Amino acid sequence: MQSILSSQQQQDFLRRGFSRRHFGRLASVIAAGATLPFYNESALAQQSQKGAPIPPDAIRLNANESPWGPCPEAADAIHNIVQRGGRYLYEQTNEFVELLASQEGVPASYVRAYPGSSAPLHQAILGFCSPQKSYVSADPTYEAGGDAAQFIGAKHVTVPLRKDWAHDVKAMAKADPNAGLLYLCNPNNPTGSLTPRADIEWLLANKPASSVLMVDEAYLHLSGAPSVIDLVAKDKEIVVLRTFSKLYGMAGLRLGAAIARPDLLKKITDYGAFAVPVTAVAGGFASLKLPNLVPQRRKMIGDIREETIAFLEKHNFSVPPSKSNCFMVDVKRPGEQVIEAMRKEKVIIGRLFPAMPNHVRITVGTREEMQKFQAAFLKVTA
Ligand code: PLP
Repeated sequence: MQSILSSQQQQDFLRRGFSRRHFGRLASVIAAGATLPFYNESALAQQSQKGAPIPPDAIRLNANESPWGPCPEAADAIHNIVQRGGRYLYEQTNEFVELLASQEGVPASYVRAYPGSSAPLHQAILGFCSPQKSYVSADPTYEAGGDAAQFIGAKHVTVPLRKDWAHDVKAMAKADPNAGLLYLCNPNNPTGSLTPRADIEWLLANKPASSVLMVDEAYLHLSGAPSVIDLVAKDKEIVVLRTFSKLYGMAGLRLGAAIARPDLLKKITDYGAFAVPVTAVAGGFASLKLPNLVPQRRKMIGDIREETIAFLEKHNFSVPPSKSNCFMVDVKRPGEQVIEAMRKEKVIIGRLFPAMPNHVRITVGTREEMQKFQAAFLKVTA
């Protein structure tokens, strides 16, 4: 593993306060091996099942996936490109990057395509954090970044969400004067709650000078909230992550992007830039060309989410406000018990987030799936 670090990378890591002892771990993050403990949502969801196989007829509401998959136009584009899968087709990735960049109002040099957004998240931690520069995040939030930071020997500083479930940007700004990366997930995973744009702007203006702000917009399309990519266009110290794993229904196909000023992007791509599967690029390109796809899916998923939350509230279970394809429900007992009991009903939910031990995360599935969820939930909480 160690040998994959170039001598220049080794020198750079030593200068930034890593010791040779860290090299094996740093190398494994660069390799982004699926065996890493923090790998991504899919691995976290699998781990939370503790090795128990999921029955094939179970309903899966535990990984923030999409039961709808890619839209028909994307599926056609994927189908049509399969026969050309013997080639890397770099030019298609370039076209995808150019289209995304033009839609988001940044030059193409500010966008890098990845097979999902997990890799740029992990590699940003290598680029911006070290034993001397911490990773600051909310709690609860998507765990992968914090786990990766700890794995490479960087401190992970957590800041509770505010009472209104937004990120506490004032507390994040002063959490550590030596922060390397501030991570803000909007809407947040697992709560689905939004942080107002004015707060994100405030954090960008008031963050420690040593740090860069990362805004993870994995779920942004589901919310209708404005992106902060325009702040990237203004050359601020901000990195935005996007993925096609959520609204676009392409989690298994693997497509994402990191969007930032080229010098910041380089700090991430220095630790690996991957060829993106041609199928994913074809599906992503076709999806971006459809102006109605985002609003239609947002409405469809939002309607099912709101119906499910209304049902839970009618039965006296409270749910923090969500604008995403997942939400947290207060199950009024240790969440683990409800996850286990639901599993016996063949409805897979969770995972648990330690900051909210009596809440369980639920992914929004199809209307039919959510009806089965409702029946099972009433049974196990009766
Ligand atoms: N960021 C957040 C907040 C997520 O929830 C996920 C996956 O669930 C990711 C990033 C990474 O997803 P992927 O690697 O599939 O793009």
